Order: sequence, then structure tokens, then C-alpha cells
Amino acid sequence: METINPATGEKVRDYPETSPSELATILGRAQAAFESWRRVPFPDRASRMRRAAQILKDRKDEYARLMAVEMGKPVAQGRGEAEKCASVCDYYAEHAEAFLSPEPVATDASRSFVAFQPLGVVLAVMPWNFPFWQVFRFAAPGLMAGNAAILKHASNVCGSALAIEQAFRDAGFPEDLFRVVLVGSGRVASLIEAPEIKAVTLTGSTAAGRSVAAKAGAVLKKVVLELGGSDPYVVLEDADLEPSVEACVASRLINGGQSCIAAKRFIVVEPVRKRFEELFVEKMRGKTMGDPLTPGVDLGPQARRDLRDQLHAQVEASVRKGAKLLLGGTVPPGPGAYYPPSVLAGVKKGMPAYDEELFGPVAAIVGVKHEAEAVRVANDSPFGLGAAVFTADAARGERIATRELEAGCCFVNAFVKSDPRLPFGGIKESGFGRELASFGIREFVNVKSVYVK
Ligand code: NAP
Repeated sequence: METINPATGEKVRDYPETSPSELATILGRAQAAFESWRRVPFPDRASRMRRAAQILKDRKDEYARLMAVEMGKPVAQGRGEAEKCASVCDYYAEHAEAFLSPEPVATDASRSFVAFQPLGVVLAVMPWNFPFWQVFRFAAPGLMAGNAAILKHASNVCGSALAIEQAFRDAGFPEDLFRVVLVGSGRVASLIEAPEIKAVTLTGSTAAGRSVAAKAGAVLKKVVLELGGSDPYVVLEDADLEPSVEACVASRLINGGQSCIAAKRFIVVEPVRKRFEELFVEKMRGKTMGDPLTPGVDLGPQARRDLRDQLHAQVEASVRKGAKLLLGGTVPPGPGAYYPPSVLAGVKKGMPAYDEELFGPVAAIVGVKHEAEAVRVANDSPFGLGAAVFTADAARGERIATRELEAGCCFVNAFVKSDPRLPFGGIKESGFGRELASFGIREFVNVKSVYVK
């Protein structure tokens, strides 16, 4: 398996694939590690998780560099990602025991309660876009709940996968509790079948989700899916335009636009649409694209050339179908996988920019007449991950966010972000199950009713 630096097109490193016999050994050892880990008291689990948090903070420069070289993330964003991982470790170190303490229930028994017991070895199939965060968001609650984990990371970020495995070891977790397997997606189905694997979590594309869910369904194993999105940001006529556009641009460009919860469709009501477009283009134009290792860069290359080319094809097809290119939309020369901040206006149903996920720095602006049409267009998507609404009337925004928008995370006057304290996940083709908060840690446990006569 090889890593290509997307900024240069050069090979970074080869990694030997995990052989079938190595895989069998890793699974057996993870199972054995689970048998003892499940009996380790919460305070002991927590002290290791806090050490993992400290390691993440201490090594954030090293990790940021690794992410930059493997998938093109600007180093400042990589440092932020490592710190966010530390925060989720600290969060579950503090709260896991309370989230999983038995809940008494009054019945006709002398004592009855609900207990939360770990499931065993959980397989995590993860994407490259937040190579550390996606893993810690699953692993911190998973290990605190008493489970073991096998990580099959995206094939282009093997170095990040191995660095995370080392961080858990250095933090004092049992050697085989969190193990990486270097395998391609073609070997995921047989991994799901392995008797040691009790459940699966996948973060990735909808296509990968369908395939993993089908396999997990065939062998009846629990699955959580965090998939793609085409998050709508509704901008109403009373919105404070300057900060709203600021938030919209930040959300569209974070991580080079390669975030599941990046704002992708901007649904703007007619009275403010023209001004919104002007401000939006101005702010997008002001962003710096360049080598992700250079401080101050807003936008690195896309993670892989094939993904950049796919994004460009979606832009071209949208323009062919009548979208108007207000900014960008051209592939820069050179071996890097760069794609500039781009803005499409006049986007309509039937165009890829409306119907599909644009996983890169391309904004799709859809003009609508009024709030009701804005809500209809926002929900007119196969996805339902995040959504936001911008309005000066907080009560109006809260009503739309709570009752109208079909998505798992709806924000008012702010861009959607994940936060360890709030559950995270989607509906429709964005997946099912939740990560983070108390909901996330309860996904991979046996919710056990205990009845004592
Ligand atoms: P991807 O191609 O689906 O890959 C994600 C992971 O799944 C990788 O480890 C990949 O392995 C594996 N995989 C791919 N196809 C598979 C299959 N048929 N069976 C089993 N495993 C398979 O996605 P990506 O391009 O890395 O990531 C981008 C997508 O992830 C976007 O759609 C984005 O919205 C979504 N995402 C969602 C969330 C969320 O929380 N909802 C967060 C981040 C990203 P290989 O690398 O070996 O192919």
C-alpha cells in the first residue's frame, strides 16, 4: 500500500499489506485483550485515556505534518485536529462511567436495572479526510466502554493509522487492544465475517456504507454508518449577511472542502441573493491555496488526484447543464491535486452540484423565493447529515432547525461542527447511528436488562 503526497504527486512511502495469517493473529490477540480489558475499572481506563490526550497534544506538530504529507491538510488545521482528538479523549475519560452506569428501573422484581456491557472487538473502517479525528471519535468512547478495536483506515493514510496505534500503546493501553490492519477495501467483507468482530462502524461514502451494511446485515452484526452529505445552508432575508457569509465560506473551505459536514448547497432567498453572491465570491477569492506545510495557507491540495478530477467533472457537468461559474472551476497546471475555491450560481435540480455531494472547495448557490421554498430545496436531497439556517430572528431559526430541516445536526447562525458533547450523525443516505455524547458510547454496548427476583 502506498502513500502519495497530493501536493507533489510523489510517493511518500510503501507499507506492506497485512497478510491473512497476520490478520488472524491480530484478531485473536485483540479478542484476548478484550477479555481482560472489559474487567479493568473505569478510573484505570480513564487514566490511560487522559495520557492519550496528553500524547496528542505533545505530538501535534508531528501529526499535523503527517496529515499534510499524506492527505494535504494545512498544518494549522492538522494541529487543531490533534487537539480536538485530545478533547474527545478527555471528555470520555471524564464521562464514560456516568454514561454507562446502571439505570435502576422499578418493576415487580426486588431489583431490576439496565446495565451497559461492552460488545467485544469492533471493526472501524475509516476515511482519510480527518485521519485522526474520525478514529478518535470512535475509539475514545469505544475503548472507554471496554471494547477492543481493529482499525482499517483509508489506504492513503497508513502512516496516520500506525501513529494512532502507537499513541494508544504509549498511553499504556494493552498492546493488542487497538490494532491497525493494513488492508484495502476488498478485504473488509471477510473482516466483517470474522467471528472475533462483533460490530462495525464505517465513516465514508454512501457507496461504501451500502456495501458494509449489506455484509454486516448478512452476518447480523451491529453497524453504525457515518456517510456523505450535501449540507444545505439556508440564508433568509433578515440574516446579518456579513457574518453569515463568513460562516458559509469557512464551512465550505474547511479541510479543502473535504468534510462530510461542510456546507455544500447555499439556499438564498431572492432579496439577498445578489449581495450574498458578491460577498461570497469576494471572501472565497481572498483565500490562499498552497503547500499545506506552509504556515498561513487556507487550502491545500485535494487528497488525491482522482478525487480532484472527479470534482472537476461534477463542476463541468453542472456548467453544461446551465450553472454559472462565478469563480474558479479550472484545474491548475502541475503534478499536485490542487483545485481552487470555486463558486457556482444558478444551481438547479438535475445538476451534479444540486443532486450529489461535491467533496471539495466548490460552493453551489441556489436562489429561492421565500422561506417555504428554501426549506423544500434544503430537504430535496438524498442526504440528511447537517444543515444550517441564518436569520436575525433566533426563534424563527430555531423553529426551522427543529421542525423543518431533515438532518441529524441543525445549527442556527453558525456553521455545523462536531462537538464531543453533542450527538453526531445523519438520516437518509447520510447513515444511521450516532457518535459522540452519551449516544455515541451507547452504540457499541449490550443494553442489558437485569431482573433479580
Ligand atoms: P470511501 O471511499 O468510502 O472510503 C472510506 C473507507 O471505506 C476507506 O477506509 C475505504 O477503504 C473503505 N471502503 C471504500 N469502499 C468500500 C467498500 N465497498 N467496502 C468496504 N470498505 C470500503 O470514502 P472517502 O473518499 O475516504 O471519504 C469521503 C466520504 O466520506 C465522503 O462521502 C464524506 O462525506 C464521507 N464522510 C462522512 C463523515 C461522517 O461523519 N458522516 C465523515 C467524514 C467523511 P480504501 O481507502 O482502502 O478504499
